[in-house]
Amino acid sequence: MAEDLSTNAFRGDAAEFINAAVVSGDACPAYGAILPPHLHHRAMHWQRFCFDSGWAGVHWPVDHGGMGLSVDHNVVWHEECAKAEVAPYLNLQGIVLAGEAILRSGTQEQRDYFLRSTLSNEILWCQLFSEPGAGSDLAGLQTSAIRDGDSFVLNGQKVWSSNAQFAQYGILMARTDGEKPKHKGITFFLLDMKLAGVEVRPIKQMTGDSEFCEVFFTDVSLPAKSILGEVNNGWGIAMGVLQDERGGAGAAGVISLRKRLEAMLDGSSSLDSVKADEMTRILNRGKALQSLMERRGGDPLIAPVAKLMNSELGYDETQLDSSLQGAASMLNSRSTDNLLYSPGMSIAGGSSEIQRNIIGERILGLPREPQIDE
Ligand SMILES: Cc1cc2nc3c(=O)[nH]c(=O)nc-3n(C[C@H](O)[C@H](O)[C@H](O)COP(=O)(O)OP(=O)(O)OC[C@H]3O[C@@H](n4cnc5c(N)ncnc54)[C@H](O)[C@@H]3O)c2cc1C
Repeated sequence: MAEDLSTNAFRGDAAEFINAAVVSGDACPAYGAILPPHLHHRAMHWQRFCFDSGWAGVHWPVDHGGMGLSVDHNVVWHEECAKAEVAPYLNLQGIVLAGEAILRSGTQEQRDYFLRSTLSNEILWCQLFSEPGAGSDLAGLQTSAIRDGDSFVLNGQKVWSSNAQFAQYGILMARTDGEKPKHKGITFFLLDMKLAGVEVRPIKQMTGDSEFCEVFFTDVSLPAKSILGEVNNGWGIAMGVLQDERGGAGAAGVISLRKRLEAMLDGSSSLDSVKADEMTRILNRGKALQSLMERRGGDPLIAPVAKLMNSELGYDETQLDSSLQGAASMLNSRSTDNLLYSPGMSIAGGSSEIQRNIIGERILGLPREPQIDE
């Protein structure tokens, strides 16, 4: 990379690196928020290739294998990846969720152990938050971690854990004090998935893939050094993780949206004025989201708005795509998978209803929703 560290110079260097990787076959195609199993090997290779070439962790410290640049440089990296239709990193759960949480709250030992190996792809992560009885009401989680000397004994079940079948570590929320109010008795752990008593069972989805899993814990002995932050203080750390997960939509999203709309146009013979109008409206909504993120992207309040706009946009886009492709293509095409997958994105990372509640209460100042257990 050239010595000029401006974002403009970085943009040129990044485009050159990415385009060369597309030509050489080292880059992995873009896939959205959750890595589909059929791209696992390509994504692993691409992450390692970036790391070995000095192009991983744009805004992470150099000491931890990153490039030591700014968040603005990272935005540029995402934009250039979107232009080339290439994945910006291996998996959201590792590079964005676990990595940023460890950067914010990890001990020096945890940062040294996890960050570099996450960037180099030696450690893959999954997110172990949701449970059969605790999704929207995450603070109601029942998986327990009971202190036993220098360790904790973990029992319970998680569900919808994306890519847990490939993960070496998981970011885990577990109840360490059942007496405290529900938000205050939760601890955040970095769980070694190889520990005895951790069992991963992939769930088959209607797309035919198994992207997420059930994860069961039976008397797992968790060393105290796996705590991120402090005992019973996991809720605040988890909220930072959810904000990263929800606030990720930016200008890069609009670049890839425009590309997908162009591809829809190319492949369609049935674009009438109604569908053309719908396409324009979708693009305009994408641009509105882009403008919002450019002006307020770092503002924690904006995360639920971005999440809501992004997942609803994705859903409407796949509906339009399938109506343009027509019935025949539904038998075996990219549209079929996208259509089956699209409702999931308005649930993953917190459902649209929950984002609306948060927007109502925290941004619009509406009265709080009644809580049965308070
Ligand atoms: C593709 C995908 C990937 C996922 N990956 C992961 C992962 O890697 N790790 C992980 O931990 N979880 C993951 N999840 C789980 C996801 O976070 C939860 O599904 C989500 O939080 C909703 O929880 P739930 O499924 O228990 O639904 P529930 O909370 O039971 O909600 C059911 C319905 O009721 C509505 N509802 C609930 N409460 C309210 C309320 N107060 N007001 C209005 N409406 C309400 C919801 O919007 C929803 O429509 C994933 C989910 C999907 C779809």
